[in-house]
Amino acid sequence: MIKVKYLILGGGPSGLTLANALVQRGENSVLLIEKESEAGGLCRSTDVDGWALDTGGGHFLDVRRPEVCEFLFRFMGPEEWDRYDRDSRIRLKGHEVSHPLEANIWQLPEYVQRQYLESIRAAGCNNGAAMPARFTEWIYWKLGERIAADYMIPYNKKMFADELDELGTYWLDKLPNVDYEDTLRSCREHHAYGTQPGHASFYYPKKYGYGEVFNRMAEELGDRIVYNAKVSTLDTDSHRITTKEGDEFEGNIVITTVPWNSFDSVTGISDEMMTKMRSLKHSSIEIRYFAEDAGTDAQWVYCPDPELPYHRILVRYNFCKGKGYWTETRSERTSMFKENEGGPVFMNEYAYPLNTMDKPVIMDRLLTFMNGRNIIGLGRWGEHSHFNSDVVIKKALELSKTLTD
Ligand SMILES: Cc1cc2nc3c(=O)[nH]c(=O)nc-3n(C[C@H](O)[C@H](O)[C@H](O)COP(=O)(O)OP(=O)(O)OC[C@H]3O[C@@H](n4cnc5c(N)ncnc54)[C@H](O)[C@@H]3O)c2cc1C
Repeated sequence: MIKVKYLILGGGPSGLTLANALVQRGENSVLLIEKESEAGGLCRSTDVDGWALDTGGGHFLDVRRPEVCEFLFRFMGPEEWDRYDRDSRIRLKGHEVSHPLEANIWQLPEYVQRQYLESIRAAGCNNGAAMPARFTEWIYWKLGERIAADYMIPYNKKMFADELDELGTYWLDKLPNVDYEDTLRSCREHHAYGTQPGHASFYYPKKYGYGEVFNRMAEELGDRIVYNAKVSTLDTDSHRITTKEGDEFEGNIVITTVPWNSFDSVTGISDEMMTKMRSLKHSSIEIRYFAEDAGTDAQWVYCPDPELPYHRILVRYNFCKGKGYWTETRSERTSMFKENEGGPVFMNEYAYPLNTMDKPVIMDRLLTFMNGRNIIGLGRWGEHSHFNSDVVIKKALELSKTLTD
């Protein structure tokens, strides 16, 4: 059995950042366990048809967190990245309209503009109704019947789950916030107003996919990463883990970035907590390459049409090079593709943690209990939250300071 001070589970951006930051801060007893043969997690890329493709979906580095960019630039200098302004659109009723819809209704034909303005005007939020706790109800409350039916309900069902009703609203700071006045002003002045979504400006590598920076972080760690080692059990008393391959590791502190509901067994916790942990939900996303031209100048396009299997296309020649595009499709919908349509195909079993109504309570109890035992949940899966890579990297950098100060 191998014993170390810091045992890190999972070699995605969270684990890689924490491991590198600890080593940079002079800690040598650091070991990272990764189930795949390479690191990078959802942020991995590969070469397809002569150019990079992000196998976990479209991945862009938001410029908003300078400390994160500065950290990543240590592995891949700023001269190796291009900076872009976001151009993302929604395919709606035969038109391509900029995202977010509420700020760009003016790009649609006038009769549709009227329908959508009326939808928002009549929505609950503009008529004194209290904000609902469920996501589906929130969509109607915020944007009204028409926009819910044409766009928000079908799109979110396609991306997250058919059971949209199970989701809460506590995570909606992720979405753009455009009020009715902003929408009216946008229509009058033909310019987007309101709080815009993330990635307004982003970096993407010039010559590679996003995964390259994480390859370099992994290289820096050398034999501090154990690959092809799938964590199977966690003993919360002894801080020991075993892998599917039969190896044992122990850490004074265990930092886990792997999904809580993916452990085969966790000992030292109550049956009730185990049941709650297992009830955490996620969705799986398939990535599929198409060599054709996507017929758009946008970097990515949201596709709410329920007849199409995928919910988003990523047009790589508009943010790196090469030809073609790739689609993102929830696993349950991939059977809608025709046989041999597109390809190659990459499946990500753990793609989106689902923000179900009871998740905040479950995670609060679980993480408080684990923290008391020197087991720390970090990253998208460690906290079971929709964090983007810049957020998990920031959190990992902060944790490295807390652990070593
Ligand atoms: C479709 C999509 C689009 C996205 N777009 C963006 C974007 O544009 N910009 C952005 O910044 N972020 C984006 N994200 C979010 C980004 O992918 C995450 O923030 C980031 O990958 C989180 O890193 P992580 O290390 O916490 O988790 P992950 O990347 O999921 O890494 C977890 C690691 O743990 C490993 N692992 C899992 N189980 C085990 C086990 N039992 N034993 C050992 N190892 C295990 C996995 O193999 C993986 O390497 C997107 C996500 C998705 C799904």
